[in-house]
Amino acid sequence: MNPGSAADHTDLKSITTHAPTFGAYQVNSAYHRRVAIPSELGDSTSRQLQNMSPALVVPVGSTEQHGPHLPLDTDTRIATAVADVLAARLRADSESDWLVAPAIGYGASGEHEGFAGTVSIGTSVLAELLVEFARSACQWASRLVFVNGHGGNVAALRRAVTLLRYEGRDAAWCSCNASNADAHAGHAETSVLLHISPGVVRQDQRTPGNRAPLSELMPEMLRGGVAAVSSLGVLGDPTTATAEEGRRIFAEMVDACQGGIIRWAPDHEGMLR
Ligand SMILES: [Zn+2]
Repeated sequence: MNPGSAADHTDLKSITTHAPTFGAYQVNSAYHRRVAIPSELGDSTSRQLQNMSPALVVPVGSTEQHGPHLPLDTDTRIATAVADVLAARLRADSESDWLVAPAIGYGASGEHEGFAGTVSIGTSVLAELLVEFARSACQWASRLVFVNGHGGNVAALRRAVTLLRYEGRDAAWCSCNASNADAHAGHAETSVLLHISPGVVRQDQRTPGNRAPLSELMPEMLRGGVAAVSSLGVLGDPTTATAEEGRRIFAEMVDACQGGIIRWAPDHEGMLR
């Protein structure tokens, strides 16, 4: 059933009585007046979600070193910002109710171990976490998309979403990717943070890292992690980053995910393109 259809909202009269003033508003054809539809899972009450089957957007990030100039939660910030804009656009463009879940802020970051602050839960545990998260959420959500902000999480996402889809759950995932982006804490990520969270970028600490292509660095990284190829923890050049570039790269990330969600044709590992 279409979760935005009037038939789903049999209890909305009572919901509106108790609804807080935050969240998105949309016209419900059953009542010809504006009703409150929550936009964030964490802000919602269970009662607001009764008799709804919202679609859920789940940011998946990491807590890992991002050089001397970016915070440990950089990937989580990017995934969350992309998810927020995505859900707002999808709510505006479709009849479905899209909710953003609180982010999963830890991922598979083994390649960044050796740098203080990095906390990695590894691929196996992350995959299990994603599976159990979706099994539980899909008891009330109509479908679920993980929005991934960290490349190291991809193996876990593939494994988890393949299983979830095999089990009959309508789950999928997309990545916050940009074309020609450098690998880590360089031009691309620093630009995006200057756009979405300028206050957390330590501008005076920006220093170029190892700018060799990832394919060249990979053999050494597989043996010794990022530390083996960059003592700074930077792969790329953050000194060229600008907020304007960040706006462009961020829009590319959102557009790519939005296109994939609208097409909703997950590949054999659940990825949306
Ligand atoms: Zn990152």
